[in-house]
Amino acid sequence: MNSSPFYVTLDRALRLRGTTIADICPSDDPVARRVLHDYGAMFVGADSVLPPTLCVFTSEELVERFQKEAGLVAATIGDAVIELQPAAMSALLEARAVARAEGLQVSPRDGAEAARRSYADTVRLWNSRFSPALNHWTHAGRLSEPQAERLRSLPVHEQVEVLELEQEGIFFSKDLSKSVLYSIAAPGTSQHIAMLAFDANEFRDQRVREILAQHGWFQTVLSDLPHFTFLGLAEAELPGRGLKRIEVDGQTFWIPDTGIQPPEPDI
Ligand SMILES: [Zn+2]
Repeated sequence: MNSSPFYVTLDRALRLRGTTIADICPSDDPVARRVLHDYGAMFVGADSVLPPTLCVFTSEELVERFQKEAGLVAATIGDAVIELQPAAMSALLEARAVARAEGLQVSPRDGAEAARRSYADTVRLWNSRFSPALNHWTHAGRLSEPQAERLRSLPVHEQVEVLELEQEGIFFSKDLSKSVLYSIAAPGTSQHIAMLAFDANEFRDQRVREILAQHGWFQTVLSDLPHFTFLGLAEAELPGRGLKRIEVDGQTFWIPDTGIQPPEPDI
């Protein structure tokens, strides 16, 4: 696995920044490793962006420190104020201008949440999946009340232990049929925390996707169709960054080439 194109590129990119894969993503932390597999494209983008300094942020303080270091700029689109890293914002605004000249929109999905998120935002979104699923499985008799209560009382970054239950078919996604990580990012792990993600309403429009790609914005998370990641690179450069192209339902995704077969996408 560690000799796969993605890991070789990641290792090189991190060394240039004076860090290592083990520093940002401990190998004994299964959630951190899942983050690399599922959201890892953001770590191998252009030098114009700062990738997250940790695979899993465990507090608001750590997120704030990273976001301050990366720098962020705000823009108002419609009635939403969205915030992104400076290079990501410039590219998005240019893409919007090109789209507008063709009579097309590139607009934020769900308002401000479409771009930067805080640690607290990711916790709230996690709870929107975690809590209902916990209630469901308790009522269904698959979890006992004490089990559910124990999970509820865990610190939020330890609640991802539900990934172990998922191996027994007790799933925490919105539709309860697959892993919660295909439904929502684990707390502290989102590309939105990195300020390198934008959820666009117009993701089904092929021309909009083309314009975004021409400005360094690509779909990199298989299960998440409206979600675009700023890599700041030309499409032709992506294979050289350890990313592989996958076509799903006529849409092009660039995902980490880890040598592991990706899961069936959620569409
Ligand atoms: Zn998103």
